[in-house]
Amino acid sequence: MEKKQGKIGVTTENIFPIIKKFLYSDHEIFLRELVSNAVDATQKLKALASMGQFKGELGDLTIKVEVDKKKKTLKVIDRGIGMTAEEVEKYITQIAFSSAEEFIEKFKNVSEEDRKSIIGRFGLGFYSAFMVSEKVEINTKSYKPDAEPVHWECDGSPEYTIEKGKKKDRGTEVILHIDEENKEFLEDYKIEELLNKYCKFLPVPIQFGEEEVEVEVEGKKDKDGKPKTKKVKRPRIINNTDPLWKKNPSELTDEDYKKFYRELYPHTLEEPLFHIHLNVDYPFNLTGILYFPKVKKDYELQRNKIQLYSNQVFITDSVEGIVPDFLTLLHGVIDSPDIPLNVSRSYLQSDSNVKKISNYITRKVADKLLEIFNKDRKKFEEKWDDIKIFIEYGMISEPKFWDKAVKFALLKNVDGKYFTFDEYKKHIEKTQTDKDGILVYLYATDKDEQFSYIEAAKERGYDVLLMDGVLDSHFINTLEQKFEKSRFARVDSDTIDNLIKKEDKQPSKLDEKQKEALKKDFERNIDTKQFEVVFEDLSETDAPVMITQNEFMRRMKDMEAIGGTGMMGLGGLPDTYNLVVNANHPVIVKLAETKDEKEKDEVIKQLYDLARLSKGLLKGKELNEFVKRSIEIIK
Ligand code: ADP
Repeated sequence: MEKKQGKIGVTTENIFPIIKKFLYSDHEIFLRELVSNAVDATQKLKALASMGQFKGELGDLTIKVEVDKKKKTLKVIDRGIGMTAEEVEKYITQIAFSSAEEFIEKFKNVSEEDRKSIIGRFGLGFYSAFMVSEKVEINTKSYKPDAEPVHWECDGSPEYTIEKGKKKDRGTEVILHIDEENKEFLEDYKIEELLNKYCKFLPVPIQFGEEEVEVEVEGKKDKDGKPKTKKVKRPRIINNTDPLWKKNPSELTDEDYKKFYRELYPHTLEEPLFHIHLNVDYPFNLTGILYFPKVKKDYELQRNKIQLYSNQVFITDSVEGIVPDFLTLLHGVIDSPDIPLNVSRSYLQSDSNVKKISNYITRKVADKLLEIFNKDRKKFEEKWDDIKIFIEYGMISEPKFWDKAVKFALLKNVDGKYFTFDEYKKHIEKTQTDKDGILVYLYATDKDEQFSYIEAAKERGYDVLLMDGVLDSHFINTLEQKFEKSRFARVDSDTIDNLIKKEDKQPSKLDEKQKEALKKDFERNIDTKQFEVVFEDLSETDAPVMITQNEFMRRMKDMEAIGGTGMMGLGGLPDTYNLVVNANHPVIVKLAETKDEKEKDEVIKQLYDLARLSKGLLKGKELNEFVKRSIEIIK
């Protein structure tokens, strides 16, 4: 063929500066685009061969990526179908360029975020090479019999040349002359990093550089009788062409899944709790493996761990908005050709396929959890403390997940026993229903701090749940909304008999006048800003004085602490408590009859401090004074 010069038919004088500028923030994707093209070309050839339309030798189909630092070139070489001169004209110059022009037109008014991701939608794949190059060459030879090799070259202006090339074997070689600004792409480590990120699971072997391995030398042994080895170099293949999620789950062992987890996250030491293999082909195509990670004690939740692929091509690892929020806490891979490649996040979120996929995954995760629960309840309970954060989050935020999870979600009591919601209801129904027919769920958030309150509840034969997880305060709100005729109360939010009122009024050993007078005595000795004195007619065996904190007030405070309420104005809510005085306790009855003011004050101070002590509110100077005073009393 004749050497020919052409001018790419765009009106914009020079589109490359624009491509470079607009796509700058995401320029590394050029490598993914070029390698994907090479993979496509290879897959097409294999398809033609299997249909009998290509009868030649396939040979070694490994794709090669090569860097030449001296010449400042980066090459992507494949042995796929190649292109004829007409095809280069058509696919590279006409189609790709016209879409490039369209791209620029549409580009003017879009956001930064969308610009980055718009590239593929306009078939700009190949042209992303110009983000990092001052010149791009193509050497290609089609698989078609007697096809002539073609050389194409373009230096970043709309002019290009196309002529007869020198390539001897079938396939395509794209040569990027990396520009000064992007010379980092001539560094081996950088290319390795990108190949690892974007190409790690592509279905055709990709070679980058060589690696040294030790092999046995046949027939030779060293002094110890072990076979002698020598070091040899061999091509280094950077990808796993047959990733685990593409395989049949029935052929895989637990160990395979753990190994793959390490392959995905080489820097994670923790083993996953369990996995879910996703596999569906109707009404959309999706495969993948999700792992429940072990969450560290400090709840350092790692998002951006699920990797999204489209036909084994990496798309993104920030899946917020694509999968339900609670699932972003999981790890693993999702691969679907139905997830559009290279589109913006907002587009993905509104895409109906993506919505269906997201619902499917939610359902599948719930089904798998139910299956484990049914199959091995003990194992499920052992893992519960680790997985409850995911399940509670899902139940709070996804009504669809709630509907499924009520069958396996567990409640744990302070003695470490687990119950399903139904089981627990049956467990407490008879004892913890109050006189108005409301079922009261008692809970503690700290077994040590609330010890005396838990004991008081147990003395009545009540059960106390342990709700000490990060999400539990939210979860309790959700449970209250979902459970009918029920209420949750922390054990220290009131006296136990007030929390579960069984009958109206107990008789009192003090009359109103006595209570009135005693209240003044108390108020003289305590911090009235923090404590309000209330009299309760409890039983003789209850403590004489105790501290409670109203459930509603405490929840408001909790919410305020995590930034949930803006309505509190300056300074926030003070910590206020009730100082509950048991009007039926002998000590209190005696106190009411005491005439000596000084003696009265001393007893009240002591009772006040004891109550604060068991609530963990006595600290510093006051604690010291209490200790001294107590020693005096013993003397
Ligand atoms: P897309 O891959 O989205 O179609 P590209 O701009 O990346 O867009 O490529 C345009 C076309 O050029 C491809 O569809 C293909 O026909 C052709 N092409 C690109 N790279 C190769 C290659 N390595 N081998 C054969 N054909 C290629």
